[in-house]
Amino acid sequence: MKTTPVRTRFAPSPTGFLHLGGARTALFSWAFARHFGGTFILRVEDTDLERSTPEAVQAILDGMAWLGLAPDEGPFYQMQHMDRYREVVARMLAEGTAYHCYSSPQEVEAMRELARTLGRKPRYDGTWRPEPGKTLPPIPGERKPVVRFRSPREGATSWTDLVKGQISFDNSELDDLVIARPDGTPTYNFCVVVDDWDMRITHVLRGDDHVNNTPRQITILRALGAPVPEYGHVPMILGPDGEKLSKRHGAVSVMEYDRDGYLPEAMVNYLARLGWSHGDDELFSREQLVEWFDPAHLSKSAAQWDPKKLNWVNAHYIKQSDDATLAGLIAPRVVSRGGDPGAADLASVVRLLKDRAETLEQLADGAMLFCGRFDGPAAELASQHLTEPARRALASFAEGAAGIDWTRESISALIKSVLASHGLKMPQLAIPLRVAVAGTTQTPAIDAVLEILGRKNVLARLAAA
Ligand code: GLU
Repeated sequence: MKTTPVRTRFAPSPTGFLHLGGARTALFSWAFARHFGGTFILRVEDTDLERSTPEAVQAILDGMAWLGLAPDEGPFYQMQHMDRYREVVARMLAEGTAYHCYSSPQEVEAMRELARTLGRKPRYDGTWRPEPGKTLPPIPGERKPVVRFRSPREGATSWTDLVKGQISFDNSELDDLVIARPDGTPTYNFCVVVDDWDMRITHVLRGDDHVNNTPRQITILRALGAPVPEYGHVPMILGPDGEKLSKRHGAVSVMEYDRDGYLPEAMVNYLARLGWSHGDDELFSREQLVEWFDPAHLSKSAAQWDPKKLNWVNAHYIKQSDDATLAGLIAPRVVSRGGDPGAADLASVVRLLKDRAETLEQLADGAMLFCGRFDGPAAELASQHLTEPARRALASFAEGAAGIDWTRESISALIKSVLASHGLKMPQLAIPLRVAVAGTTQTPAIDAVLEILGRKNVLARLAAA
């Protein structure tokens, strides 16, 4: 029985934004930790100074905050651990699990080329690797060495992947990895190893583009006498066309989905189903996800991004959200459309529209009927629909409207009585009403629209039409 408390980490490289694949990895690591009552750690892998930017760090923090994936520990930054990496390099040199290599980059390239021409895997030939009884070449005075890991040559490095099952690499295939550059800076795989060790990570969930790094990391951990975490490599996300998901498929940054009107609950639900399942359940809360999240149901095959399904999930969460919350979410979107969120009771507006909206953007578009500036119907629409018989019916409606309770029920009753007295069918009044008060032939139920617009507005618009 394993008694070590579960500790997972999300370890993004801050070189762009939080993309969908990264967000899903973060979500899985978070849900896994939560499920087992463990700790979720955020570690920013910012050692690539040329590609890492503060904006990208912020984008990751924003994306995680938006999704509600708060780390229990961190964010930690690898750049702040440099002394520790150097200390471990020094220890490995002292213990003989790492060695100085003075081969020049040109020499290493030539070794690789030679291996290629011999039909072998390109690799470092071990010139500077110490072996019992071997005499090393004289040290070239002017050259600064790299530090290489003395990788085991015999046997194999294997692990039981939480997602993919048994994976094994022959150690003869693993090169003696450079762990520190001539200027002493540690390299990528080495920093990951030291941090996973120091942070006592028990489970690493990450994209399967890292499978080839895992045997290198395991062999270094073993050389350090450090515990080896369990690994789970999640297949990538494919676009709807079956190709690797990329910009060409539309938005790939999580925050673009915020901008486009998706709710974080919907995003979390949808992302969780990309590569993980709980029976046939498609809709589940964050709490259910945590309760159900077991690595046994992570899928071995690549998941496909399906914008239609995401919209369906988002529509569900919009429908479920309470009106006041939705009103608060769409108010700024109404403002950015030039509308006035105070022009109507926004909670009533969203109550009317939310059953048919797939995104907050659609909801805001719909709200403009009530919050946008109205200058009367276009001339063409007016001449087509505001005919003499229609105007007579509108006049009766306006007359009656002055003296009723302004509720949907009374408005509906008034419409029916005008229809009866003018011998008209519903569309013969409803469409002119829409054109006159909203400048369009299509709106949600006209009685509800009129109620929200308010008597004053309605009468003014009818008078002006
Ligand atoms: N920093 C790596 C990346 O963003 C992830 C490293 C890891 O999860 O081990 O791809």
